[in-house]
Amino acid sequence: MPRLFKDLVSENVHPLNVVDGVDAAEVAAWSPSRPPLFEVYMRMAEELAKRSTCRRLSVGTVLTDQKLENVVAIGYNGNARGFPNDCDTATPGACGCIHSEMNALVKAPGQLREKVAFVTASPCVMCAKLMVQAQVSHLYYRNLYRNPAGLEVLDHGGVVAVHYDRWRDHWRES
Ligand SMILES: [Zn+2]
Ligand SMILES: [Zn+2]
Repeated sequence: MPRLFKDLVSENVHPLNVVDGVDAAEVAAWSPSRPPLFEVYMRMAEELAKRSTCRRLSVGTVLTDQKLENVVAIGYNGNARGFPNDCDTATPGACGCIHSEMNALVKAPGQLREKVAFVTASPCVMCAKLMVQAQVSHLYYRNLYRNPAGLEVLDHGGVVAVHYDRWRDHWRES
């Protein structure tokens, strides 16, 4: 039997997005009538990225529970609490800012398993390892970061990573 991906993104195998045993005609006729929750959380991450104080890159992160019912932590990249709202140095890759994913993960409850992450850029290697370690099950990213090595780490660690830009330009008019 065909499989329906409710947001029409076939890489998005999160259980909330997949309906099995649907007939082909129904799959062909399906179109979402409102923004998928995955897109809503991604836009939340985009808003958070606007608060970044890093001069090189603005990134935002939202962490939710497995059912996408609760935001459990948020983050954006920047310096530590009480430090200047600026990078430590202008050296690429060593500006001293805490990455948005790290900022979200340090605030997420450690005992919560199977978190879902929404990040505006694909993670670096170290953030990807932290996602694996924190038992993030699915990670959605809007833009591909210049180095895709983090995605290989996620794959190796069993985290489903989804490039999520299918609905980027929809439902924008108010
Ligand atoms: Zn910085
Ligand atoms: Zn990182």
